[in-house]
Amino acid sequence: MAHDDLPTAVRYLIVGAGVHGLSTAWHLAQGLRARGEGGGEDVLVLDKTAVGAGASGIACGVVRNNYFQPAMRRLMAHSVSVWESDPAAFSYHPVGYLQAAPESMREGVVQIHAEQQEIGYPSRLVEGERDCRSYLQDLFGDWQAPGITNVLHERRGGYANNQASMRGLADKARAQGVSVRTGVRVTGLDLADGAVRAVMTDRGSVRCENLVVAVGPWVRDLWQMLELPATIDVRSPDGRLLSDVDMWTYLLLQEGTLGVDPGLFTDTSGGMPPVMHVDSDAPLLDEDGNLVTDSMWGIYYKPDFNFGGVQGGSMPLTVEKAAADVAVDPYGPASPEFVVSPEFARMWTAALAHCHARFQGTRHLYRDEASGGLGCFTPDSFPVFDTFRQNAYVIADSNHGYKMIGVGALVADELLGEPQDLLQPFRFGRYERGELHPTSSSPFPWS
Ligand SMILES: Cc1cc2nc3c(=O)[nH]c(=O)nc-3n(C[C@H](O)[C@H](O)[C@H](O)COP(=O)(O)OP(=O)(O)OC[C@H]3O[C@@H](n4cnc5c(N)ncnc54)[C@H](O)[C@@H]3O)c2cc1C
Repeated sequence: MAHDDLPTAVRYLIVGAGVHGLSTAWHLAQGLRARGEGGGEDVLVLDKTAVGAGASGIACGVVRNNYFQPAMRRLMAHSVSVWESDPAAFSYHPVGYLQAAPESMREGVVQIHAEQQEIGYPSRLVEGERDCRSYLQDLFGDWQAPGITNVLHERRGGYANNQASMRGLADKARAQGVSVRTGVRVTGLDLADGAVRAVMTDRGSVRCENLVVAVGPWVRDLWQMLELPATIDVRSPDGRLLSDVDMWTYLLLQEGTLGVDPGLFTDTSGGMPPVMHVDSDAPLLDEDGNLVTDSMWGIYYKPDFNFGGVQGGSMPLTVEKAAADVAVDPYGPASPEFVVSPEFARMWTAALAHCHARFQGTRHLYRDEASGGLGCFTPDSFPVFDTFRQNAYVIADSNHGYKMIGVGALVADELLGEPQDLLQPFRFGRYERGELHPTSSSPFPWS
């Protein structure tokens, strides 16, 4: 029996009030209304905690198109349009995005630029060490990182404020009549004849015609409730069959904030700079002149009034590596615990100073506070958007997804019977067929 404040049945039940659950709810309500088939009253969002309580609410908030994989790039271009549709409601800052990279990544970056031109996504490519230095010094008078031979400057994209944007999305869904119920945990699913009939919660059960799973790093739990396999076979693009590959893998995202006035990190004209992403193979030294790394490294950063400083991150850690560095039970239930390795602060601040003279000697201003979190990755580190058990749509973004605010619009169309080309490359069946996305030479699993 349902708890008296939950409906006993609903047409569309969405689990998770993060970017994907809320965007799907909003667009689904709009789509139903536009088709004369109902509206927000047919859509219920349940979240065990609150709006933005998961990864979406702690994300750095970067919105970019820069992806080596054509299918990701097309999908991101679509999502950027959704961010641009209402910057105020989404607390979106369209400052652009700039990637600076070494020679080993040049070929890939040139290709990204060419394909951005093909899809009409505006960006500027600069090549050669001298031209890159001069481009970056025009942007920042104190730019000093050596060895950068390619710069890709995207004019669109930027970043958004995590919690504010989730509140904005929830408002849009509610304005369409969607009910967003928080403090309700989904504990099980009632499966019959291969389909989901009802959702069990700690407040009673709710029958549903369609289930949408949008639970971010908790996807492993709902996957299990759907009685889907913990390991799968994956065919690599060269035809080899890899057996028993873990469906879900966890990485710890390393992020933090340098406690300087964000208003001090402006460009040479005094304006807000693009979100910066720097990859480098130059040796990285800390403030004391000690070697941090002589392997490929990468950082991203932006001035952020929401975080109150210069905020950003570096490459994530595998859970095993993190376990050695920080006190966390990596094999406990998935949750975006705020855990950052002590080594992160040294590396990230060294890298900021490596790039900009203004950050030299600022290591002591690093804010030692909760930041970063767990990301849940698929076998090829790219999203899975697909229907399972006949009526359960799983949105598993492989930790790419704060920027993917438009995915919910596409999922809503699919739920309403219109398959979307932009989502086709992200079906689960690609693992069996060996239709994996190409991998880049970036040190990040999400580029
Ligand atoms: C530190 C960090 C920084 C990131 N930075 C960026 C970035 O800059 N740009 C970018 O594009 N991406 C970024 N990401 C990735 C991005 O945040 C995620 O991919 C995205 O937010 C996932 O959205 P979601 O809606 O799937 O899940 P979430 O936002 O995690 O929402 C899932 C919701 O489901 C609820 N839930 C879970 N289980 C249950 C249950 N059993 N019953 C009821 N409710 C449940 C949770 O409470 C939660 O609110 C970052 C991730 C992290 C961790």
